[in-house]
Amino acid sequence: MHAAPTTAGSRPFYRPLARTRRRLGGWLDHLAPRGCALCGTALAPRAFPGFCTGCLLDLPGACRPRCARCGQPTDAPAPACTACATAEPSPVDATLAAADYAPPLDRVVTALKFGRQLALARPLGELLAARWAGALRREPLDCLVPVPLAPGRLAQRGFNQSLEMARAMSAALAPSFEPMPVMPRRLARLRDTPPQAGLGLSERRTNLLGCFGCSGRLDGLRIGLVDDVMTSGSTLAEAARALKAAGAQRVVALVAARAA
Ligand SMILES: [Zn+2]
Ligand SMILES: [Zn+2]
Repeated sequence: MHAAPTTAGSRPFYRPLARTRRRLGGWLDHLAPRGCALCGTALAPRAFPGFCTGCLLDLPGACRPRCARCGQPTDAPAPACTACATAEPSPVDATLAAADYAPPLDRVVTALKFGRQLALARPLGELLAARWAGALRREPLDCLVPVPLAPGRLAQRGFNQSLEMARAMSAALAPSFEPMPVMPRRLARLRDTPPQAGLGLSERRTNLLGCFGCSGRLDGLRIGLVDDVMTSGSTLAEAARALKAAGAQRVVALVAARAA
């Protein structure tokens, strides 16, 4: 059962709470050992990701081979699935999906976003870190950029879950790898867009067209674009298009959960 800590409270406290949690880092783990984000089993101090071994192995689709381009499950490891091999090239060069968007992982994502359990951003970010660690030598990243929320949604939620996940991922990798700084303000959502749910693929693309913008140049950077869930990939593609227009050399989507 889900037994994650809660951060219930009024919205203005989220951001200072997240900052304090990051600054105290591993010390809090020693004082109050945290539990697995799914079953609550106590974890060793500074252990990551924030899931116990059993739950980690049980995550939906965690062990399936996936298309390296879009993250969709495939029968065998492949540089591109049939759809990617025949489609026009996407501005997203590669996708790392930690698991499928299915029970019980979907409950963690939902509790983070809609239950305002900000503490769940850490295990999800650490899950990405653990999945990515094996690939770092093959394809290093210069920085992480979270997919920004629309201004209205950010005001409503009080935090951007993708930013908090990116910070957790960066912190988890910091002791062992080259620093991978998080750049939270280089990519912005220029306008609110209607919800993507219920729209067809082409409608999703039209809905998002030109909704992201970059400040400053990103020439030659290899960027990890962090998001919690990938559905059609339209949002990530549009965000990647803006990063590439600003000079990014390569954009790799890093998502905790991939919807079918
Ligand atoms: Zn567990
Ligand atoms: Zn594919």
